[in-house]
Amino acid sequence: MSTVQLHDLRFEPFISEQELGLAIDSVAADLNKKYEGKRPLFIGVLNGAFFFAAELVKRITVECEITFVKVASYHGTASTGKVDQLIGLNERISGRHVVVLEDIVDTGNTIEHIMAVLADHHPASVSIAALLFKPDAYTKDIPIDHVAIRIPNAFVVGSGLDHDGLGRNLPGILRIVQ
Ligand code: 5GP
Repeated sequence: MSTVQLHDLRFEPFISEQELGLAIDSVAADLNKKYEGKRPLFIGVLNGAFFFAAELVKRITVECEITFVKVASYHGTASTGKVDQLIGLNERISGRHVVVLEDIVDTGNTIEHIMAVLADHHPASVSIAALLFKPDAYTKDIPIDHVAIRIPNAFVVGSGLDHDGLGRNLPGILRIVQ
């Protein structure tokens, strides 16, 4: 695949679909072991996590449930550090083993907020699974338990991730051309 123009920015191929698939296989294998007999509740964080959630749960062999929530925290290419309310959290969380599915963890502001909201609902446990993680940008102490792929601190799109609404449909991950 060659470079792609999305609004004002150009992106180049970075991680292939195949590489993503293998990394998701590995996360799923870990989760299948960890949650045997626990009927985990997967909570995908929209919009970006739709791809990761779909790819992950089709590899999950233990009995499980999946739902989605929505937060709004990111505008353009820089995290504002502000997050809104969690929308759509209707399931009973109390006593459940919850796995939060994130497309990407950057500064950690979003995941910190989500963890705080979930804690108020008294789950039995909460872990985090992320398709992508930027360790160099991360500012929190909360462990990101399951990471498919760690990436350097660059703006990326594809596989659910967008630039101002465009690019979520692109296969694999593309990185901004500086
Ligand atoms: P955080 O709160 O961890 O700084 O950012 C989390 C959210 O910001 C992600 O769910 C995603 O929506 C957005 N985000 C962070 N880094 C990137 C990136 O490189 N590309 C895109 N498209 N979104 C990002």
